[in-house]
Amino acid sequence: MKRFEEDIRKANRIGITGHVRPDGDCTSSCLALYNYLQENYNADRTKTIDLHLEPIAEPFRFLTSSNCIQSDYKDEEPYDLFFALDCGSLDRLGAAQYYAMQAKKTVNIDHHISNTGFASVTLMVSDSSSTCEVLYDLFDVDKISKATAEALYLGIVHDTGVFKHSNTTEKTMAIAGKLITLGATPNKIIDETFYQKTFVQNQVLGRCLLESILLLDGKIIVSSISKRAQNFYNVVPSDLDGVIDQLRITKGVEVAIFLREDDVQEYKVSMRSNGIVDVSKIAVFFGGGGHILAAGCSMKGSLHDVINNLTIGIEHQLKNAEKC
Ligand code: 5GP
Ligand code: MN
Ligand code: MN
Repeated sequence: MKRFEEDIRKANRIGITGHVRPDGDCTSSCLALYNYLQENYNADRTKTIDLHLEPIAEPFRFLTSSNCIQSDYKDEEPYDLFFALDCGSLDRLGAAQYYAMQAKKTVNIDHHISNTGFASVTLMVSDSSSTCEVLYDLFDVDKISKATAEALYLGIVHDTGVFKHSNTTEKTMAIAGKLITLGATPNKIIDETFYQKTFVQNQVLGRCLLESILLLDGKIIVSSISKRAQNFYNVVPSDLDGVIDQLRITKGVEVAIFLREDDVQEYKVSMRSNGIVDVSKIAVFFGGGGHILAAGCSMKGSLHDVINNLTIGIEHQLKNAEKC
């Protein structure tokens, strides 16, 4: 942690957070940093280190210190040092953005190409598979405990889709290998936190696939789930996490879109590209962000209008690519 060594040593009050609706990389990077700081910089417990994060998905709760997560926003004395992880813009921090704004120094560690540079210090590595990979580079390997290794490994597994997305590099694999040596258990983490689905998660996945449609000669696949259907199955947003990945691997598809109705005529948009289209550009245009091949945003309007507005941008990029 050489780069932030002095800041950490000087700080009495340190806060850590990640983005709203924490995914595997967000949850793990926050827990990995929390464990690393507690173990290596706070052995005498003289510092206050707080971890603020929205409630995490059930399969991640085995990670060490997940019981230390504080999910209720409280009026806190300003932090001397505040880490915002896996998050490219202030609004994505949800209620925790107020801690970030009040902190004496905010450090943003991230890998989103759409990063807005909202923090006092930004460490954004867009070609890194995950924020966990960025953190691994910051950490002193000799000081990574089994608990921290497990968290870092889980984050890398989730953001690379189990080492299959194009963000998986030789370096990513080497880091994952080292994390196994340090105590991470691949079979448990991959099966129990990534592939395993509850009965209802499988049912909803099936329904979303059944109701998917192809547009633009099969280059775009779209599916959506209404609020009513989510209530019927009694699912929370994280129950829908695998849907977009399954849509993306449909043969012939360039872009997959999944729309989750959050409120009347309000949709959370997930997009995945197979290479030609930069979906982060489309997400940023509609006020969101992400990576070139995986991005998202929130949009208002009828389902028809939302799909139409997204596909205009995608079609435009596909046509431009054809010209070259
Ligand atoms: P997902 O589709 O899995 O929710 O998100 C894909 C990627 O896009 C993630 O890296 C996520 O952080 C980013 N992303 C998703 N939704 C939003 C959004 O509303 N705003 C921003 N800035 N990024 C988003
Ligand atoms: Mn994330
Ligand atoms: Mn990430």
